[in-house]
Parts: sequence; C-alpha cells; structure tokens
Amino acid sequence: MTNAIYPGSFDPVTNGHLDIVGRAAPLFDELIISVYDVPQKQLMFSVEERVELMKKAVANLANIRVVSYSGLTIAFAREMNARVIVRGLRMISDFEREFEMALMNKKLAPDIELVCLMTSLEYQFISSSLLKEACQLGGDISNLVPKHVADALVEKFGLANK
Ligand code: ADP
Repeated sequence: MTNAIYPGSFDPVTNGHLDIVGRAAPLFDELIISVYDVPQKQLMFSVEERVELMKKAVANLANIRVVSYSGLTIAFAREMNARVIVRGLRMISDFEREFEMALMNKKLAPDIELVCLMTSLEYQFISSSLLKEACQLGGDISNLVPKHVADALVEKFGLANK
C-alpha cells in the first residue's frame, strides 16, 4: 500500500493544484492533501478556510483526504504512513526550490521519496499569489479556480457589491 501526501499552502486552491491532485490520486492508494497551517508567507485565508475550500473542490474525487498540519512535512508524511511527497512544478524557479527541499528532506528522511508532476500547459501561469493580485485589481479569475473559491476571494476582497 503506497500513500502520498500533497503538501502546500493552498491559499487558495487553484485549478493548477486540482490538475495535480487529479493526476496524482490514481497513482496512489490514498492521496492526502496536506494544508500547511502557517507557511512563511502572508496568508489570505485561515487554515480552516483553506481546508474547507479544498474539501469542497475535491468532494467528487475518490481516495483523497484533506487535512491540515504543522511542523516538518517529512514528519507529517511519516505520521500519515506516506512514503511519497507529491509536488507540482511550473517553472525553473519551482524546480530549484523543490530540488533544495528534496535534498534536505532526503538527508532527514531517506525513506521518503519526492514525486514531482509537471504542470499541464494551460495551468503553467496560475499561482495563488498572482491570482489574488489579479482578483484584488478587479480581474476575472473565474476560469482559474472553482466557483466557490472565486466567490470566497471576491468576498474576502469586499468586491461583492462593487
Ligand atoms: P507552497 O507554499 O508549499 O509552494 P502552494 O500552495 O503554492 O504551496 O503550492 C503547492 C504545490 O502545488 C507546490 O508544489 C506548487 O509548485 C504546486 N503548484 C502550484 N500551482 C501550480 C500549477 N499551476 N500547476 C502545477 N503545480 C502547481
């Protein structure tokens, strides 16, 4: 039995994340989407909100669980009985960051493997941070995220009645 975790901030979940989830889930017995509670970046949504938005986005998919975690990702992987960490790669800068993290993780936990899936071409430019910026400036982001996420963003930015 091979379980995997897919860790991230997911602030908020985008169609790019969901593409990775949809492609990774069939490769494992269980894919545990792991929402990191306090990443070192400014967040728009609380960890509870990010988990809820993700749960709703994957409600129709089988063999997926959504949980939050804190602390070391490898420690959480072990706790979940997961031998694999899944990540998505969009560009060279993602690769460099993942490579560094993977080397560190390998030192700390040689038993855990990293599996990186390349983004699908149509999602390459989607990032949660750019998405928030575009939405705040009034851009139409409805094709980039599930509807309930677009609604949550509009509400957060107080754009609903504008
Ligand atoms: P983190 O803060 O850990 O990078 P993110 O929520 O930004 O968390 O991303 C989680 C994972 O999803 C990362 O591996 C990231 O590279 C990947 N990812 C983000 N956006 C996309 C996308 N559009 N296509 C493919 N992978 C993506």
